[in-house]
Amino acid sequence: MVSLNDFGPEVRAEVKQVREVVASLHEQLIKWNLVVWTAGNVSQRLHFADLMVIKPSGLRYESLTPESMVVCDLNGELVDGQASPSSDTKSHAYIYRNMPDVYGVVHTHSTYATAWAATGQEIPCGLTMMGDEFGGSVPVGPFRLIGSEAIGEGVVDTLKKYPHSPAVLMQNHGPFAIGCDAEAAVKAAAMTEEVAHTMWAACQLGDIIPIAQDDIDKLNERYQNVYGQH
Ligand SMILES: [Zn+2]
Repeated sequence: MVSLNDFGPEVRAEVKQVREVVASLHEQLIKWNLVVWTAGNVSQRLHFADLMVIKPSGLRYESLTPESMVVCDLNGELVDGQASPSSDTKSHAYIYRNMPDVYGVVHTHSTYATAWAATGQEIPCGLTMMGDEFGGSVPVGPFRLIGSEAIGEGVVDTLKKYPHSPAVLMQNHGPFAIGCDAEAAVKAAAMTEEVAHTMWAACQLGDIIPIAQDDIDKLNERYQNVYGQH
């Protein structure tokens, strides 16, 4: 088995720093009410080696420390850690292997986003902030069983068709979000829940007024490139 001792000091220093980042971002999942009990996970890919840091399986959030975060290679094989990695690890690894600009992945079962997923409905783009953050609707991905990289395949296949969206609602399951680092992916997961909640409320009030695609494109272009927030 490959171990961290096989890597140089630069990589080991990055592992230490990313363990701290990933552990503290799990607190954000609690803060934004995106997870219950042990559900949900955050990972971040390293820049200095083909490795990722991810939450261990089955540990409750108050037990998560930087040292308890698990290091895996990009096939999802354990490299360093006291516990087994999250059951979604192979899917995170698949996403990193197939989306080279992605350095952060987050999965939650946040309530409103998961309700849209349970009904297999994309979240329609009825808000300027959706134009900003998602470049349109939040798409739905296919139903996939948990444990293999099949979920990751479904995430990648869907997001390649929706290149501006940093999130996908996996049918009957919940949202997966991506970003240029784990913090950006957590932000995308929080925004997904926010727009899922607002658009659910809007649907109770009446018909959604669609935003013209041309205007959605302008919103997204301004937010991503001029406004300078990713
Ligand atoms: Zn899940």
